Amino acid sequence: MISMSEAVDAILSSAGVLETAEVELDSAYNSVLAEDVESDIDIPPFTKSAMDGYALKALLTMDVPVILRAGPIVAAGETYECRPAGSGEQADDDAECIKIMTGAPVPEGLESVVKVEDTEPLPDGRVKFFDKTTAGQNICYRGEDVRKGDVVLEKGTRIRGPEIAALASVGKFRPRVYKKPAVGIISTGRELVEPSVQPGEGKIRNSNGPMLTSLAASLGCESEYFGIADDDEDVLRRFIQKGFQKDVLLLSGGVSMGDYDLVPDVLKNEGAEILFHKVSIKPGKPLLFAKKDKCCIFGVPGNPVSNFTTFYAFVKPAIYKMMGREDHELDFIDGFLTQDFENSSGRLYLAPSKCSIIDARYHVTPHLLSGSADITGCTKSNCLLMIEKGPFKIKKGEKAKILLLGD
Ligand code: AMP
Ligand code: MG
Repeated sequence: MISMSEAVDAILSSAGVLETAEVELDSAYNSVLAEDVESDIDIPPFTKSAMDGYALKALLTMDVPVILRAGPIVAAGETYECRPAGSGEQADDDAECIKIMTGAPVPEGLESVVKVEDTEPLPDGRVKFFDKTTAGQNICYRGEDVRKGDVVLEKGTRIRGPEIAALASVGKFRPRVYKKPAVGIISTGRELVEPSVQPGEGKIRNSNGPMLTSLAASLGCESEYFGIADDDEDVLRRFIQKGFQKDVLLLSGGVSMGDYDLVPDVLKNEGAEILFHKVSIKPGKPLLFAKKDKCCIFGVPGNPVSNFTTFYAFVKPAIYKMMGREDHELDFIDGFLTQDFENSSGRLYLAPSKCSIIDARYHVTPHLLSGSADITGCTKSNCLLMIEKGPFKIKKGEKAKILLLGD
């Protein structure tokens, strides 16, 4: 039986980064950029006011308080017509300052903007200024954020809110990104009924199908749920053949030692190469990984807790790598136990746990589960606690590695 790190290595070395595609900006969230992106303009494209106020020549406030004549208002999106004193040859002598709104272009030659809150309008239309101003005050200069031709986002950047805004600002409305894997999900098991159905005798609800579908969605992947496959070779074969069309196929259940755990044999007969079957972890020992052409196939053990933990420890890094994420490797960090915990199994323990930050440290409380089927006992998990293979005891207050689930 291979170790967890050997299994993760095997998965990551056979899961390749997917090809690239140009996508609409509003569907680019959570994708990884596959190109450097340059700006096609200076940003801001013109020198503009950072405040609602009055633009003027700084010199005019040498002796304050001072009362100045104001020209007409320049609103954002408009261009100015009035050129007040000091703003150049065609100065409009009637105006010594200009009322200006945030985002409006500042007439050339005017050096500062005084916030409207720091002024007092007089009944005759003039404005009183109380403080000296300095050149550049409340002005955003053309190109001060970005120059035309600057690389604003590098290949490999993960796209989130500010990146979407940056792409929009530089006119990159169809960025080239790595494709996200298309995920197929099959629940196997004759005992399963869908969640809307009241389970009859000997039946249980399919909780893994909806969980895997939503976990794939949480990573930004589109998935297709193929339904429940009976524990029957012909039925499984038909489901699996459809699943091979996907980049990632998640087969829940049917990979253990039971007489009706048919997934490994059907996969082999259908030409998939089994890279490993069984990993020295608890829960999730029967985990299987196989490859058929470009399709990465995970046989995830049917017990819901194993389904949950193996998704995070094995499936997620593969999906991240395929979608071009440079941070796809598992990142275990230190946590401190809030209670004693014992791993009596001879396998590495991945315990669904809840952690919280107190005094800049992660404090970790493993869930006390009645067994690997107890998924309702995991409902507040936000990390997996990793305890080395037992027999091994860890005491309250001691350090252990945790994997944050991150959503
Ligand atoms: P298996 O891996 O198929 O041997 O299943 C192990 C255990 O998990 C059995 O008790 C199954 O009934 C249960 N199980 C399998 N698939 C699911 C599922 N989709 N949802 C909930 N429980 C499941
Ligand atoms: Mg089964």
